[in-house]
Amino acid sequence: MSEVRFGRGGIPDWLEPMVRYCSRCGGLLGFGPIEGEERDRLSCPSCGFVSYINPRLVVTTLPITGRGEVMLIRRGIEPGRGRWAQPGGFLEIDETVREAAVRETLEETGLRVEPGAIVGLYSRLHAGVVVVAFEAQIVGGVPTVTRESLETRPFAPEAIPWPEIAFETSLRALRDWVAPVRPDLPLPDLATIGRSFGG
Ligand SMILES: [Zn+2]
Repeated sequence: MSEVRFGRGGIPDWLEPMVRYCSRCGGLLGFGPIEGEERDRLSCPSCGFVSYINPRLVVTTLPITGRGEVMLIRRGIEPGRGRWAQPGGFLEIDETVREAAVRETLEETGLRVEPGAIVGLYSRLHAGVVVVAFEAQIVGGVPTVTRESLETRPFAPEAIPWPEIAFETSLRALRDWVAPVRPDLPLPDLATIGRSFGG
């Protein structure tokens, strides 16, 4: 078994320091083949514990106004500081996905929403996350600026600031929302998205 080292097919490099030790006995984990497993795994040579590393879920909403505009926030923190994204955050262990959608939207925008259909589900491999985006009707609240947001404002489908969107997954979610609502509008080319966001 080798030292903890991840190449293609493994976990992102930034995650390595957080998964170096065995959560059961504190021993140093190794990375390599495990009997009965079809791919290399992190495991503990001392106690045999296998540490499975899986993506986390980020729950987001596209809050829609009564006029059919989408509320976006200009991010006040990294990553993506100064650029636009939909509200969202990590699913907590003690809440449902829809509860998280309501909570994160309220925390980041001051808006109360009722999540509706899922617009899409998107993998961000380098970040180790899966992002779900709900379309959500705004049912109350007042747009507010928080520590995490510099500005919250509505955009009509034709006014979405495509070049200033923070994340590839945000771009994909907005694209998937606009396409059926306004099939007449030109959309950003998905083939160029990966390059502009570095993969
Ligand atoms: Zn152990």
